[in-house]
Amino acid sequence: MALIVLVGIGIWKTSGRVDADRVAVVRQCDRVMGTDCRLIAVVPYGREATAEDALERAEAMLRALESRLSTWIADSEVSNLNAAPAGKLVPLSEGSIEILRAAQRAWQQTGGAFDITCGPLVQLWRRAGRRGVLPGQSEIHEARKASHWKLIELTDTGAVKHSAAARVDIDGIAKGYAIDRAADILRKAGLRGGLVEIGGDLVCFGQPPEGKTWPLGVKDPRGQGKLATLRLRDEAVCTSGDYERFIEIAGKRYHHIIDPRTGRPADAVPSVTVVAADAMTADVWATALSVLGPEGLRRLPEGVEAMVVVGTADDRRIFCSRGFLQRLEERPDRIEVVE
Ligand code: ADP
Ligand code: MG
Repeated sequence: MALIVLVGIGIWKTSGRVDADRVAVVRQCDRVMGTDCRLIAVVPYGREATAEDALERAEAMLRALESRLSTWIADSEVSNLNAAPAGKLVPLSEGSIEILRAAQRAWQQTGGAFDITCGPLVQLWRRAGRRGVLPGQSEIHEARKASHWKLIELTDTGAVKHSAAARVDIDGIAKGYAIDRAADILRKAGLRGGLVEIGGDLVCFGQPPEGKTWPLGVKDPRGQGKLATLRLRDEAVCTSGDYERFIEIAGKRYHHIIDPRTGRPADAVPSVTVVAADAMTADVWATALSVLGPEGLRRLPEGVEAMVVVGTADDRRIFCSRGFLQRLEERPDRIEVVE
């Protein structure tokens, strides 16, 4: 279940042509980065071949990036870095270095809440989830010692670890980066508009198939319905939540996002939705706000807008930034602006 759904997508898919002057070509890609992926190209009627070609190239880009970046693929560049001993320079492609640098900046910008060097902690808690036993104090202590940026040094051509135990986990930024690169391809293809979506995180640009803005529904993390509808043009939106991916130990649910300050799963923020100019920035802040909670809204840089939902279905509170409220079509009840 993705937290963001494109309102009206069913109609475009069945009728093909909606507005008289343009048509939306939709490409559904089978499992990209472990989840569903959908690409849309909007072109003048009769130019469907241009759309098909652009969508095919965008999908190829996503698949190429996945094989290079995934920590789930044993011989990816990132896996090689993680498996490397201390002191060895591990060569990385330009794209991987770009992501690691962006992740390092994000660590500074979010006051340490977004931290890809938390790999050892993420692995510890994943293992705990599989075994169904909480990790002990000393295990958490050890994993925390191995989770720090001082143990990873970036160079112009690669990265060096200063401890063999150090690991990067780029799952919280790689999807956003990949969406941006696929969107670059669509943007350059001379389309009227387009959209790249992986598991509910997306970039949209230009003209939607119908109307002037892209209508995006934000699902209720604890219920069935829709919480709100965002109206976007030329922006990215990413979400984070504990509704889909979580760790369960002894019947208790733990967030899959780690609070680097404690080395423990973040206190459940049921859902975070972030709008930014690019998907990488939105992705990073979605993870960071899951750690920081509503207070984190005060830290948002210029151009990044967000909504944080806390509490239970019966007692829910919604906080958002001013700019986020402006992008909402329907306002949910009990929404408070944090500035
Ligand atoms: P999703 O994959 O559902 O989009 P996120 O983008 O929020 O979720 O990324 C969460 C993933 O990022 C986790 O599964 C983990 O691999 C990694 N991670 C966990 N905690 C942090 C953190 N504090 N900072 C950066 N990455 C994290
Ligand atoms: Mg994300």
